[in-house]
Amino acid sequence: MHIVIVGAGECGARAAFALREKGFEGQVTLVGAEPHAPYERPPLSKDGLAGAEPPKYVAGVERYAEAGISVLTNAPVASIDRERKVVVLAAGGAIHYDRLLLATGARPRAFPGVPDNARCIRMLRTHADATAIRSALLPGRKLVIIGGGFIGLELAATARKLGAEVVLLEGLPRLLSRGVPGEIAEIVADRHGREGVEILCGVRISAIEENDGGAAVLLAEGGRIAADLVVVGIGAVPNTELAAAAGLTLDNGIAVDETLRTSDPDIFAAGDCCSFPLSHYGGRRVRLEAWRNAQDQGTLAAANLLGAAEPIAAVPWFWSDQYELTLQIAGLGDGAGTTVRRELGESALILFHLDRDGRLIAASGIGPGNAVARDIRLAEMLIAAGAKPDPAALASPETKLKKLLAA
Ligand code: FAD
Ligand code: NAP
Repeated sequence: MHIVIVGAGECGARAAFALREKGFEGQVTLVGAEPHAPYERPPLSKDGLAGAEPPKYVAGVERYAEAGISVLTNAPVASIDRERKVVVLAAGGAIHYDRLLLATGARPRAFPGVPDNARCIRMLRTHADATAIRSALLPGRKLVIIGGGFIGLELAATARKLGAEVVLLEGLPRLLSRGVPGEIAEIVADRHGREGVEILCGVRISAIEENDGGAAVLLAEGGRIAADLVVVGIGAVPNTELAAAAGLTLDNGIAVDETLRTSDPDIFAAGDCCSFPLSHYGGRRVRLEAWRNAQDQGTLAAANLLGAAEPIAAVPWFWSDQYELTLQIAGLGDGAGTTVRRELGESALILFHLDRDGRLIAASGIGPGNAVARDIRLAEMLIAAGAKPDPAALASPETKLKKLLAA
C-alpha cells in the first residue's frame, strides 16, 4: 500500500511519522510545495524572526531516511485524479496512491490591489517571508502592521525587540476580537503600548501603495501613513483548490467527518485546511488554525488512514507569546453565559467561560512565562470531561483545579 501526503508542513510531517509509529510498513511519500523539508511556523513571528537562521525543522533529514519516508520538496501538486488514484505534479509526473492525506494548510489573506511582487508590502507565512521581513526590521525603521490578530501582535513585539518603530492598524474596535476575551485583549494592548507600539483600532484602509524605497497606507477617512515596510496580517484562507477541483465537498475548508475522512473514502484531510465536527460543542463544524491541532490531527489521520475510524476528541488549544507574556486559550468560549475570573498573583489572570447550563466550555489565560500553563491544562481536561465546576471554586486561586477534576 502507498500512502501519499500532500502538504509537507506540521500536520503532514506528523502524519508521516505517526504512520510508522503505528507499524505501517508500506510506502509513505510526503509531497511539499516549499523548498524546505517541514519546519515550525510559530518561531517565524517570534524568536525565529529575531534570530534569522535556517528554519527550525520538524525533524532532521536523517529521521525521514531512517523512517523510510520519501520527502519531495519544491514539488507542488497540480491536481488529483481520483479515478486513476494519482496526484499530478505541477512539474510533470504522477504519483499513484492507495490512500491520500491532504494537509495543504492555509495561506495569508491578501489585501486587495497589492501586487504579489511588492517588496515593501509583505505577508508572513513562510520562512522566505520571515527572512525578507527580518532584513527590513532595523533600528529606527518604521513598520506598519495591518491587522491586530496573532501575526500582527507577535510581529509587533519582535520588531520592537529589534528596534524598529511600529504602528499597528486594526479594522475592528479592539484587538484579537476573534476568540480572545476583551479583558485579555486589553492587557495585550496595554503591554504593547508600554513598549511604544502605536495601536489604532477601528481604522478603515482604502489602499496600500508601494513607492520608492517604501510604502504608504491610505486611510478611508483621509490621511496617509508612510512606512519603510508594511506587513499585512488580516487572516488566513485554507488551501482548498486541489480538493475543489477534484470534486471533494468543501465547507469553510475541506469538509471531513469526525474521523477526518473527506467525501472520498480514500482521501482524508487534516490541519489548517479542513473543517470538522467538534463533538464537545454539539458537533458544530469548525476549522482551527493552530499548531497543536495540526499535530493532533496528523496523528489521528495516520490512525484512520490505516483503518482505525477513531473520532476527533481533542479540545481546541493554542498559545501566543508576546514579550514576556504568554496567552493560552483552551476550548471555544463564544457560547458562554457566565465568565469567572481567577487571579494568579498580580500579573496572571484566567477567565473561565461557562455555558448556560454551567458546563465549562473554555478558559483563557495570560501571564508571564508559564504562569497560566498548568491551570489551562487542567481546564482543558475539565472541558473534555464535560465538567460543571462550582464557579466560586474556579474563582478562588486557593482551590486546586486538580481537585475539581477528581470530583
Ligand atoms: P501548513 O503549516 O500551512 O503546511 C501546509 C503545507 O502544504 C505548506 O508547506 C504548503 O506549501 C503545502 N502545500 C499547500 N498546497 C500544496 C500543493 N498543492 N502541493 C504541495 N504542497 C502544498 N499556532 C499556534 O497554535 N501558536 C503559535 O504561536 C503559532 N504561531 C504561528 C506563527 C506564524 C508566523 C504562522 C504563520 C502560524 C503560526 N501558528 C501558530 C499556526 C500554525 O503554525 C499552523 O496552524 C500550522 O502550521 C498548520 O499546519 P498545517 O500542516 O496544517 O499547514
Ligand atoms: P487573525 O488572527 O485571523 O487576525 C487577523 C486580524 O486582522 C483580525 O483581527 C481581523 O479582523 C483583522 N483585519 C482583517 N481585515 C482587516 C483590514 N482590512 N484592516 C485592518 N484589520 C483587518 O489572522 P492573522 O493574525 O493574520 O494570522 C494568520 C494565521 O497565522 C492564522 O492562521 C493564525 O492562526 C496563524 N498564527 C497564529 C499564531 C498563534 O496562534 N499564536 C501566531 C501567528 C500566526 P476581522 O475579524 O475584522 O477580520
